[in-house]
Amino acid sequence: MMIGWAPILLGTVHVVQKNETLGGIAQRYGVSVSTLQAYNGIANPNLLYVGKKLKIPTGQVREVSYVVKKGESLGIIAKRFGVSATDLALINQISRPDLIRVGQKLTIPLSGSRRPVPPKLLDSSTLAKLDSIRPTSGKWKRIILHHSATPIDDAVNMHKVHLARGMKNGLAYHFVISNGSRKARDGEIYLSNRWKGQLDGGHVKKHSANQTSIGICLIGNFEIRPPTSKQLTALEGLCEYLMKRCNIRVNDVTTHTLFHPKHTVCPGKHFSLSGLHRRLVD
Ligand SMILES: [Zn+2]
Repeated sequence: MMIGWAPILLGTVHVVQKNETLGGIAQRYGVSVSTLQAYNGIANPNLLYVGKKLKIPTGQVREVSYVVKKGESLGIIAKRFGVSATDLALINQISRPDLIRVGQKLTIPLSGSRRPVPPKLLDSSTLAKLDSIRPTSGKWKRIILHHSATPIDDAVNMHKVHLARGMKNGLAYHFVISNGSRKARDGEIYLSNRWKGQLDGGHVKKHSANQTSIGICLIGNFEIRPPTSKQLTALEGLCEYLMKRCNIRVNDVTTHTLFHPKHTVCPGKHFSLSGLHRRLVD
């Protein structure tokens, strides 16, 4: 029985031009000569002809050698390594996939695109809440990070306190990330009315800065102890989301004290902005 062959889906195609060598082509695409040989069934790299179509694997491709054991089929082996049986047959020039033999040596490509997917930083209900609000286009230029300076607190209480202080819209921040004290769970992200209504913040001194700065407050006093790891994960997810949604660069994710050095130490000496920056990418 012949198995139908589908075209290889792992990369692009290069048509060999005059004076090109396999080494030169390999170098250009950042793969090894042996990878190209294996992918294209080329026994002798010196016998390359103009017009030959080469399959070029993309991404970081690692290869492993595998020796077929008793009772194994190409399908079983392909499944184990997370590649398709069709690709394995093509790469190894196997014309009869049903007739592989014990002891046969196979080249198995492990594509870079199969690296483990990074963990999701935001849970689906938070993501749904965030998605339900459309940020005002072009309004937000930066993210400013704060701590509450109170070890035990939550957004609802802070809202009341800020209202009592005479702030018209209450809670001065757009987001609050809980540390698990009071009624919220550790790492829970609270969206304030200012974010829902796309209103100016009230978290920095200058009115013009409040008009263009998203304020995120983490509950806790980070002069005394650092944020919880769940808070940091939530913060990373939230910053990543807002950067993408509002077109904000990593360097415009900053802290209250960097924004107003003489005015405050917020968010405290145990908060590491450089640590956050390392995890965020433009
Ligand atoms: Zn602050």
